[in-house]
Amino acid sequence: MNDCIFCKILAGEIPSVRVHEGPNAVAFLDVNPMAKGHVLVVPRRHWADLASVPVSEAGDVAAFSELMHTVRAIAKAAIRAGWDGANVLQCTGESAGQTVGHLHFHVIPRRAGGPVPPAFESGAGRYESDAERDAVAAKLREAIAAVFAEEQLY
Ligand SMILES: [Zn+2]
Repeated sequence: MNDCIFCKILAGEIPSVRVHEGPNAVAFLDVNPMAKGHVLVVPRRHWADLASVPVSEAGDVAAFSELMHTVRAIAKAAIRAGWDGANVLQCTGESAGQTVGHLHFHVIPRRAGGPVPPAFESGAGRYESDAERDAVAAKLREAIAAVFAEEQLY
């Protein structure tokens, strides 16, 4: 955690251009923006990624809820500030492109007709058959049910 660049930013050891500071979530401009206004939203608590967010204590659940509402509010604010929309991007794990091991959401304001940011190629994950698709869905459904059962949130 001591080597975490976002923890250092939160502690003020590394400068950042902050656009929001809440009790549990902070938003600042990305230093390598994909578009003007590209914001990173991070929890004050050092959670490595989405899969690492603890839900055992009410404080953790409330902090995560605040984080998600901050993402929502920043997307809404981008539109209020004159942009036409926003992309929200989150990477969990190195395989997904995560480069900083402190959970963060990208909120990238967008303008109509602007360039589409680097993205996954549409259709690149096409299934070989309906059976393969259904097997993937079943695998996900089972794992999702297990997570919900384990966490007893809803
Ligand atoms: Zn951290």
